[in-house]
Amino acid sequence: MRRYACPNCSNEVHFRNSECVNCHSRLGYVPAWDQMFYASPDDQLWHDGATAYKACANRQSIYCNWLVESDDEEEHCLSCRHTLVIPDLSSDENREHWAALEEAKRRLFYSIEKFKLGVGDLVHQPDTALRFEFKADTLTPDGKTTRVLTGHDRGLITINVAEADDPTREKYRKAMGEPYRTLIGHFRHESGHYYWDHLVWNTPKLDAYRAIFGDEREDYGEALKRHYEHGAPAGWEATHVSSYACAHSWEDFAETWAHYFHIVDGLETAGWYGLDGHTPDAGLKRTPGGWSDAGPYGAAEFRPLMDAWVPLTVAMNAMNRSIGLSDFYPFVLSDTIFAKLEFIHGIIHDRG
Ligand SMILES: [Zn+2]
Ligand SMILES: [Zn+2]
Ligand SMILES: [Zn+2]
Repeated sequence: MRRYACPNCSNEVHFRNSECVNCHSRLGYVPAWDQMFYASPDDQLWHDGATAYKACANRQSIYCNWLVESDDEEEHCLSCRHTLVIPDLSSDENREHWAALEEAKRRLFYSIEKFKLGVGDLVHQPDTALRFEFKADTLTPDGKTTRVLTGHDRGLITINVAEADDPTREKYRKAMGEPYRTLIGHFRHESGHYYWDHLVWNTPKLDAYRAIFGDEREDYGEALKRHYEHGAPAGWEATHVSSYACAHSWEDFAETWAHYFHIVDGLETAGWYGLDGHTPDAGLKRTPGGWSDAGPYGAAEFRPLMDAWVPLTVAMNAMNRSIGLSDFYPFVLSDTIFAKLEFIHGIIHDRG
């Protein structure tokens, strides 16, 4: 993620901020510009010169700070409009969880915009667009719980809002033996299933995919059952980014896809803070040097990304240890995992 400056006072502000802590300007983010704008106190709208923007309809309810062109019929921002189902808001807890989910989802959309992956046409071809539903478990009258399973089904990503509850997520993280279990990780993972359908399935890349990730025609239900009964095979770390990636070829792809997003976004952040060995440009207005103008998101070659990433993770692990935290990056990337990441780099950047 890049760094942002308040356009009114130049104070550093963050991607999620809707107000500058220094000058109290009302801030709004325009994805097409990847920039923050501020509204003057006597104006309801934000302006970039030629275009006026209104706030996303979710600004008050869940602090969405994204903007929409003022003459757009759509009331919701690019990210919020892709959420089709939200939990029951008579519960304050549900509202808080929904807000946290949308904040993580905007980070996913940030990456999707940077990779120029597209999210489909929600208006004309909704069945092939990227869609989300955020649901809570419900109690039936006989006292049983109807569980919501987080997952992906032909473009529709379902997330159980309990994942936004930190203690709950931490409990599952420990139970599943995962080093990372985060909201942004869920979004990145589930989006991997969506983009598999569009970038791998029925394309000339399918054979290469199967050679690297295995055959996705293996029965999915049986494969998951086997995984939950027996766990990942011994030595899985040499071939997969997580134990869950061993469950099925599709899960391996989605886990590696999420990992690739972690790496590229991590490198972009490192670049903006001068942590990746490149010298950041003065001020917060320009992309740091060392990459193409688009930064790590636009890197044509895969290897330079990894050449920058590996030493950064070694340094970050050392940083965490020096203040008593667990490792920032508890992974060792083998050649097999490199090949998987490189395949994903390829399908993102080589789309004709
Ligand atoms: Zn300011
Ligand atoms: Zn929004
Ligand atoms: Zn999955």
